[in-house]
Formats: sequence, structure tokens, C-alpha cells
Amino acid sequence: MQTHDDASMHTVNTDRDVTGMSDSGPWQVIVVGGGPAGASAAWHCAQAGLSVCLVDRARFPRSKPCAEYLSPEGSRILDRMGALADLEQGAATYLTGMVVHAPAGGRIHGEFAAQHAYRGFRDRGLGIRREYLDALLLNRVRAAGVTVMEGARVTQLCRDADGTVNGVELTRDDEPQTLRTVHASLVVGADGLNSVVASRAGLAHRARWPRRVAYVAHYRNVARMGTLGEMHVTDNGYVGLAQVGNGDGASITNVALVLPTRTARALRQSPADTLTTWLGAHPQLAERFVNAERMTPVRAVGPFASHARRSWAPGVMLTGDAADFLDPFTGEGIYAALAGGELLAPIAHAVVHAPDARRRRQALMSYEQARRTTFGGKWRLERLIMLAVAWPPLLNHAARVLSRDRDLADLLIGATGDFVPPSAVLSPRTLLRFLS
Ligand SMILES: Cc1cc2nc3c(=O)[nH]c(=O)nc-3n(C[C@H](O)[C@H](O)[C@H](O)COP(=O)(O)OP(=O)(O)OC[C@H]3O[C@@H](n4cnc5c(N)ncnc54)[C@H](O)[C@@H]3O)c2cc1C
Repeated sequence: MQTHDDASMHTVNTDRDVTGMSDSGPWQVIVVGGGPAGASAAWHCAQAGLSVCLVDRARFPRSKPCAEYLSPEGSRILDRMGALADLEQGAATYLTGMVVHAPAGGRIHGEFAAQHAYRGFRDRGLGIRREYLDALLLNRVRAAGVTVMEGARVTQLCRDADGTVNGVELTRDDEPQTLRTVHASLVVGADGLNSVVASRAGLAHRARWPRRVAYVAHYRNVARMGTLGEMHVTDNGYVGLAQVGNGDGASITNVALVLPTRTARALRQSPADTLTTWLGAHPQLAERFVNAERMTPVRAVGPFASHARRSWAPGVMLTGDAADFLDPFTGEGIYAALAGGELLAPIAHAVVHAPDARRRRQALMSYEQARRTTFGGKWRLERLIMLAVAWPPLLNHAARVLSRDRDLADLLIGATGDFVPPSAVLSPRTLLRFLS
């Protein structure tokens, strides 16, 4: 059990502080970011016996623009972290599958509980506000013995003489003039899109495609919401609708509009006007919002496609959106963030305990390979789906095929739900069914 706390910091001079050099020594791991990726990485590293400090610039609960759907397989990791029971006892809503409306009117309907041979940890996904989910996960992290510093913004990485990262510089919101240095054997960058850790480590890379921005808000009284997550794709953007738990037993509708960056720019409107205008311009959606009431401000985010050139540097590992994020369409960023932390922990343990620099580097290199093995199939599937979303004739064709072939639709939805292996969808035999 870690005992580091703020009392262990000692001031070196008036504007610089060294943190983590307490009587039990510096941290073994500093996790930057307390979203699902950072929470999972910190929790799994603590379970592996490492001393961990997690820092986040925000104070929780904090909101995060997100469609707030969690795939069925995500429940496995939530259960392991001791967070699932709270969600299943009323905080979250259940999603039984997805329906995608293609631009020409076709419909792809797939359910998580299906005839195929694959079963998820649960037969349903979860819908839950990020204010609630992320704060709950952070509490599990604290309970695992991790020291959590909220309101602490990392601005720079520290390096030793050979350039290996050995800590971070940060400022705290209650003492913005004081620059603190926190040392550790390993820095985990879980600080999301536009990751400071990735960029300071020279790993950041903005993808050229797809360039999209999103507008997210919560509504009540949207007509005819059921247990399916809905995606409505048009020739120019898409909107996702899903019931999500408010954390208090009530459920509300998450509305997430995603537009190509150039379309959003051309509109020259505020985020609230963009969302209202777009919904109003699509009659099949507009009539469902006649009695709806927006409960939260419309939050804009993007452009979001990014993929780090590599997931590690000496003394650094990246996870979650800081490592890669393509597009929210398939709704699996939270799962990838949780699974990424699970994957990272044993390798972090090997890095921290490596007897020399050569073996430390070998362990870090194995991380890149492990990520490719675990997520590579999903990355390929995601890219195919994004191609169909960006090219309406392809999605219209897929909708025609899948509306006749429910088994194939279930298989595809199961793969996006993280419990059907992507290879089951990407096999030549299955791909031929899409062309029929
Ligand atoms: C519009 C939209 C809809 C989405 N819908 C879904 C969905 O329905 N389902 C799904 O699974 N995924 C969805 N995603 C993706 C999902 O939101 C992300 O993949 C997920 O949040 C990644 O988690 P993370 O922990 O890597 O990053 P984040 O959740 O972004 O957490 C990063 C944390 O790092 C902190 N931080 C950042 N910089 C610093 C710094 N310098 N110092 C200290 N702390 C810092 C931030 O405060 C934040 O708490 C969606 C994304 C978007 C944009």
C-alpha cells in the first residue's frame, strides 16, 4: 500500500518543488491523465506491485465530450477493477445492440446477444455519463493505493544525462506560480488527444484522415429512444444517439454530432447553433426533438484523428487516446483505454525492474508489438468502417447486404463490441459476403 501524500513533497526553492522524494523513495510510475486509460494503467500497475502516482489537470468529477457508450467487453475490465457493480446497480443504462441508418435510408441492425459462437463478458453494453464513470474509476485507483493528484497540469518531461525521461514538471491549480518536479522510473502518458507527454517525447503524430470535429450534449425527452445505440449517417457527417445513465438512476439522451472539419468551418456557427441547425435539417431526427430539452452546454472537440509514431520512448509509455484515436464512430475508445492499461502493466513492471538499459529498451520495444497484436485487427476493421462512413455508396451497399444477412450484422456489431475477434469479420470468406 502506497503512503505517499502531499506531505512528502519538500520545497527546494521558492518556485521549484521536488515531489515524490519521500522517505519511501521516488515513485516507480507516474501516470499522467486520470481518464479511463490512466485509471486502468494506474490500477493495473498498482496491482502489479508498483508504486504509482497519478496526476490530472482536472478536478473530478469532470465532463468529457464523448458518446458515453461502453462496449460489452469493457465490463470485464470494469468488473476486475471493482467498478461494475455500481454501474449495474442503476447508475448506467443497458444497450442491447446498435442500429446504423445509412444515407440512402437502409438500416444495419445488430445485437450483442446473437446466434454466432461468440459471447461477451456481458450481453449488453453500458451507457453512462463520463462525469460519473471517470470519477468512479479514479476512486477505485485510490483504493488500490495509488496517490492521485488532481488539479496538477504536466507541462514538461524531465530527463537524465542520457536523455531518458525520469519524471515530469507540473504546476498545480492552487499554486500556479510553483513549478514542481515529480520523479519516477517510468512516465505513462494517458493524457488523451493532444497529449503533452507524447508531444514532449517527440512521439505525437496527427493523422491526415479523417479530419472531423464533434459536438456533444445531453437532452431529455427525445422521442422513441430504446435500448439500441443509434447512428444516423448522412452524406456529410453523422450523429449518434444513446440513452445514458445520469449516475442517479435516471437516464438521458447523449447526442453526439460528428462533422468533417471543413463542413463545420463553413457553417461558421456556435457549437449550440451547429447542433440545433443540423438536427433541424434532418426531418427524421427533427421530429424526435420537438419536445426535447437540452440539459448541458454543447461541447465541441476535434479534430481528433491521431496516432503516435510509436507508443514508447526511453522512460515513457503511451496509452489510450494519447497513443491512438481514429474516430468515435465505432465507440470503442473507452474499451481500448481500459484494455490498454491492462496490457501496459506487466510491461511497465518489466521496464521498472530491468537490470540495465538494454533490457529496459527490450521491454519497451515489446510494448509496441503487444499493442499491435492486441489492437491491430481492430485498427484494420475501424479503418474499413471509416471508409464506408466517408463514402456513402459503400455504406448504402453494406446496409443493403446486412439488412438481408442479420447474422453478419450481429457479427459486425459484436466485433465493434470487442468480443468478436476482428479476424472473424475480416476473413476473406466473410468479406465476400459483404460483396454479395
Ligand atoms: C465525440 C466523441 C464521442 C466518443 N464516443 C465514444 C463512445 O461512445 N464510446 C467510447 O468507448 N469512446 C468514445 N469516444 C472516445 C473516448 O472518449 C476516448 O477514447 C477515451 O476518453 C480515451 O480515454 P483516455 O483516458 O485516453 O483520455 P481522456 O478520457 O481524454 O483522459 C485524459 C485525461 O488527461 C488529462 N490531461 C490532459 N492533459 C494533461 C496534462 N497536461 N496534465 C495532466 N493531465 C492532463 C485530462 O484532464 C483527462 O482527464 C468518443 C470520443 C469523442 C471525441
